[in-house]
Amino acid sequence: MEEILRDFKPFIKKKGLKYTQEREQILKEIVSIKGHFDVEDLYLRFKEKNSKISKASIYRTLPLLVEGGYIQEVYRQDGHSHYEVTLTKTPHLHFICIHCREVQEITDERLNVLIKEYEEEREYKLLTYHLEIFGLCKACKGLKL
Ligand SMILES: [Zn+2]
Ligand SMILES: [Zn+2]
Repeated sequence: MEEILRDFKPFIKKKGLKYTQEREQILKEIVSIKGHFDVEDLYLRFKEKNSKISKASIYRTLPLLVEGGYIQEVYRQDGHSHYEVTLTKTPHLHFICIHCREVQEITDERLNVLIKEYEEEREYKLLTYHLEIFGLCKACKGLKL
């Protein structure tokens, strides 16, 4: 967390923006989210805590966080984006149904071992990875599309 915040300040300044408590609070809250979230989810979390953070400032801040690599868009549904935290999360797979947009998350140790091998082979320093597999889920598979 400390490390993430330390990077965040210079990142915001480099963008020529002001570092505000609001932006910091949004980032802190996001890092504590385990699954996928959208603007509404985030707004409700703040509301529960009686925080004054507005939807507008969440809308403004999320693209910045995507740009900085803190979060990423996982999928779009009904015209709005769903996100997840990139840096603090265990690497995992997404199985995305192209019909109903359902996203299943799979964490598999065997995959981590494999990626680790690639990392060593290439003398790479891996931070995180994200794999997306597109197809049709069990429910949609049988439908005539
Ligand atoms: Zn489906
Ligand atoms: Zn995910």
